[in-house]
Amino acid sequence: MATQEHHAASPRRPRAFDVHVHLFPGMLARFIWRWFEENAWPIRHKPAPEETFELLARYGIERMVGLCYTHQPGVAGMLNDFMAELVAANTERLVGFGTVLPGEEGFKDELRRALGELNLSGIKIHCHVQKIAPDDDHMGPVFDTIAETGKVLQIHCGPVSKSNAHKDEIDELCAVPRFIRAMRRTPDIKVIVPHIGYDEVQLYLDMLDEFPNLYLDTAMAFGGYRVARGEELPDARPLAMKTYEKNRKPRLPEPWKPALEQLVPQILERPDRFLFGTDFPNLPYDPDLEMRELERYLPEEVLRKVLWDNAAALFGSAGR
Ligand SMILES: [Zn+2]
Repeated sequence: MATQEHHAASPRRPRAFDVHVHLFPGMLARFIWRWFEENAWPIRHKPAPEETFELLARYGIERMVGLCYTHQPGVAGMLNDFMAELVAANTERLVGFGTVLPGEEGFKDELRRALGELNLSGIKIHCHVQKIAPDDDHMGPVFDTIAETGKVLQIHCGPVSKSNAHKDEIDELCAVPRFIRAMRRTPDIKVIVPHIGYDEVQLYLDMLDEFPNLYLDTAMAFGGYRVARGEELPDARPLAMKTYEKNRKPRLPEPWKPALEQLVPQILERPDRFLFGTDFPNLPYDPDLEMRELERYLPEEVLRKVLWDNAAALFGSAGR
């Protein structure tokens, strides 16, 4: 059931294309939310999958990439069918990504089925949940097939979570050199790294020059929630402040002022390489919190790229 409190989107707000929305069958979603509530934070909205589109539209999110993943063998096919059915029923709103569990029997066939027969738009890999490093031998076919088909890989490979529940896996699997090693095999592949690579942000920013189709999503990196909870600031190096337009220098609320002051100039420097994402519904706040932060200090033409144009160029905008 959805939470009843909604804030109507401001009519002047540009439309948003959210590249980071999780869609799972109800039972799995409830399992994931329980994990978050026991290990991380309370979940603000708990919509059924088919309620998600209408709920996000109320916040100005008109189109979205739906993501799912599995760490259990034998589940990928069911999740991919589930996603393909949701796409078929919500073509205007949803771009669907599939999942595979690299290394399980038949995963290469499922990979081809997800991208071919089911025509899903990409594959989501969650390194520390699926317990696989980007440069694992079983990830080779994933990178290769996605690169060949021109589809998109969304790979959570940054050590973003400070939760102790996955500490060992994170340290081992989410080391930046392992991602670089994987990328150098197929350097032109279209890849989205969520959370701006949090919290090794600068290392991911540095890769944008080497890999022309690497994008960073803003999910949970911009609202200051992590910083406010005492987690580390991203390590992005400040760029020259002259990149701000007059009167555009951010005046940001404490305590996340330092993090955003570092990130905003990076977006202004490369406005085509950042994509708005929320991580909805696995959020302790409303899905427009970060949108409001971006609106506050990005110049209008940069805001439009981050909120819509960049994602529409990658995935199409359903005729809009
Ligand atoms: Zn996520």
